[in-house]
Amino acid sequence: MGECEVCGKNDASLVSIELEGAILLACVNCSSLGKKIEIPSLNKNLNFSYKFSSKEMSLGLDLPDDLGKRLKQAREKSNLTFKDLGLKVFEKPTLLQKIESGHFKPSDSLIRKLEKVLQVKLH
Ligand SMILES: [Zn+2]
Repeated sequence: MGECEVCGKNDASLVSIELEGAILLACVNCSSLGKKIEIPSLNKNLNFSYKFSSKEMSLGLDLPDDLGKRLKQAREKSNLTFKDLGLKVFEKPTLLQKIESGHFKPSDSLIRKLEKVLQVKLH
């Protein structure tokens, strides 16, 4: 999504063109005015941010298969409900429920928060 730099029209599918030595984002109509440049700049950016965030989420920790079980035991030992624990680690209770049932892999930082709050080793 953006604005055509030639005519100013809002267009969802802008293409990069070279026009009189300048590189512009142009709508489909205006793209014929210049030379098309084959750089999917928009997609490239999307891929980049996707990779970046997935790297951030990547699990450096080796999580045990029984992580959910361990978490459940530790939580029950501490007499905490999902809601209590959620408040302590700033996560939604439903997310914690998913972790315990094995439907969600927590990020490293969440694991560490849980370990700290529950005083248990989860990895
Ligand atoms: Zn245009």
